[in-house]
Amino acid sequence: MKLDTASLVELEQKYILQTYKRYPIVVDYAQGSRIFDKNGNEYLDFLAGIAVNLLGHSHPKIIQAVENQIRRYMHLSNYFYQDVQIELAEKILTLSGYSKIFYTNSGAEANEGALKIVRRWGNQRNKKTVVAFTGGFHGRTYGALSLMDKPHYKELMGPFLDGIKILTFNDVDALKSILSHDTAGVFIEFIQGEGGISEAQEQFVQELWDLKKKYNFLIVADEVQSGIFRTGKLFAFQHWDVSPDIITIAKGFGGGLPLGGILVKSELENIFEKGMHGTTFGGNAVSCAAGIANLNVIYPDLLDHINFISDYLDGILQRIKQEFPEKVLEVRGRGLMRGLVLSFEAIRLVEKLIDERIITNATAKNVLRLVPPLIISKDDVDLFYIGLKNALQKV
Ligand SMILES: *Cc1c(COP(=O)(O)O)cnc(C)c1O
Repeated sequence: MKLDTASLVELEQKYILQTYKRYPIVVDYAQGSRIFDKNGNEYLDFLAGIAVNLLGHSHPKIIQAVENQIRRYMHLSNYFYQDVQIELAEKILTLSGYSKIFYTNSGAEANEGALKIVRRWGNQRNKKTVVAFTGGFHGRTYGALSLMDKPHYKELMGPFLDGIKILTFNDVDALKSILSHDTAGVFIEFIQGEGGISEAQEQFVQELWDLKKKYNFLIVADEVQSGIFRTGKLFAFQHWDVSPDIITIAKGFGGGLPLGGILVKSELENIFEKGMHGTTFGGNAVSCAAGIANLNVIYPDLLDHINFISDYLDGILQRIKQEFPEKVLEVRGRGLMRGLVLSFEAIRLVEKLIDERIITNATAKNVLRLVPPLIISKDDVDLFYIGLKNALQKV
């Protein structure tokens, strides 16, 4: 549309349900770690489409893979065998050591499918309760919302699913008193994204696995945000040396296109019979082609860079904390999934950072979330440091 920024903002409000708080930026195009708006401004992107664009915007390998695939075909349906689905499955399963994948379009849908697996497995064993944790985020569909406690996401939208208990994250006693032979499964984000980049504590994870041994239930790791090398490892849970039964992925998996997945261990590979679960677009060929290119660029060649730049960013964040002890209370997270806990509402800093031409977002009210593309350079981080310093001085 050849319209000026103000008219586009007005038309957005006219035509689109007002569910999103948008930044005052009308985008023209984006490239690498930069977004360019229609007024000619250049922004450093430390949000990456909410932890989606692992290789930044318009990576040449992704463009090439998408172009090749759309010339072959875009969509066929899951009646057909498709090489791109199979190739991507082989890659992610080889990398992860898991047994099988079910493709979805989104994170919510991956968690819906995982919930169905947990229920079906539980019903076969007369286990009726599913457990999740406060601060968790699993998506906006009914199953996913039923696993979440945040009231604003659920207001006047009930009833939600029965048989779900939401326990306080990192409360070992709650685990001990609530988990039982009746527990079918537990959903956990090892590093909560929307929950403020909060990590599962060592002892909590240990207790969860001890209880799993005692009672026999499934553990689902929601890696939708933290997965695919965002934290320096393929999955965040690998920092804890445990191995969940089911992993859900999405966001970064499709290289910028909509793609998610449910990974299961071999014990679960026959949980569904033919026709019991499905989706029209899940495993879309173009998304899978982009997903293959995405993984090929990241693994193994980008790993050294991810580790280097993660350490470098960490140094900057620690320095910022020392320089602004009253404003920055804590540095959280791992790899390139980081949070700054602030002594004030994070949205205020997000706005000041936009003035500095840096894109971030706020989560859990007082946490500034940083999920830059994995390809950010040392210069990008230096620029971020200067901008963040300026913004913190003004806030
Ligand atoms: C974003 C997110 C989801 C939901 O993914 P959608 O693709 O938006 O449905 C689920 N879990 C976590 C941890 C997420 O960050």
